[in-house]
Amino acid sequence: ARLHGRPDCTPVTLGESSIGGPGFTVVAGPCSVENRSQLLTTAEAVRAAGAHALRAGAFKPRTSPYSFHGLGVPGLRLLAEAREVTGLPVVSECVDVRDIEVMASSVDMIQIGARNMQNYTLLREAGRTRVPVLLKRGLAATLDELLLACEYLLDGGNEQVVLCERGIRTFETSYRFTLDVAAVPVLKERTHLPVIVDPSHAAGAKGRVVPLALAAAAAGADGIILESHHDPATALCDGAQALPVEELPALMERLGHACAAA
Ligand code: PEP
Ligand code: MN
Repeated sequence: ARLHGRPDCTPVTLGESSIGGPGFTVVAGPCSVENRSQLLTTAEAVRAAGAHALRAGAFKPRTSPYSFHGLGVPGLRLLAEAREVTGLPVVSECVDVRDIEVMASSVDMIQIGARNMQNYTLLREAGRTRVPVLLKRGLAATLDELLLACEYLLDGGNEQVVLCERGIRTFETSYRFTLDVAAVPVLKERTHLPVIVDPSHAAGAKGRVVPLALAAAAAGADGIILESHHDPATALCDGAQALPVEELPALMERLGHACAAA
């Protein structure tokens, strides 16, 4: 096994900055790239709020085959434009091993989503690149399984991996997924990698995103990745949980206090 516990933490490069060094990293943006004006408007608000990176999916894994699955490669081109305009590094999901090369040449960090955490072929290919990877916990995966999935990346020689808790399936149905806050200290005991939290997919509704984001900071996470949209009512994916961009500055302010206090 290539993972080892603290005290040494390996910061992971994100554009000209990193996750896992001093400071708390905020990655924000819409669930998916929908069109040029949606992406650029949201990206500009993300930058103005002081967040550190832009997220948005060009390839979307969807529960229903009839849902919007993303713009694909044209979406990656829009992400490149958003990066150019805002200066923000870009995080975006790869759902298919055939897209690894185009993803590797387009984004600053490749997201492997919850549904693909145990897609071992995809992990092997991402492990062959030297592009930083954001590995999200599967929705019914134990932490041991997450760490073994992570080993696939490390085994390929890609040591730039950030782990992400995004909520798991439990008996509770009052919200979308159960955010396993305890995963943060446990992953930090057991690995040298940065650990971030996605409060959005656990929350499932925008009013719960801020409390879960603050919980992540209080638990010692190295950052969060959250969904935000300039017009959530029109979002093609995950609109209910999107924090309106006008609410980002207040969240950044509260996270600043939470992090200073931690
Ligand atoms: C996403 O980030 O939009 C996403 C699909 O996340 P997850 O893989 O955690 O469900
Ligand atoms: Mn989403």
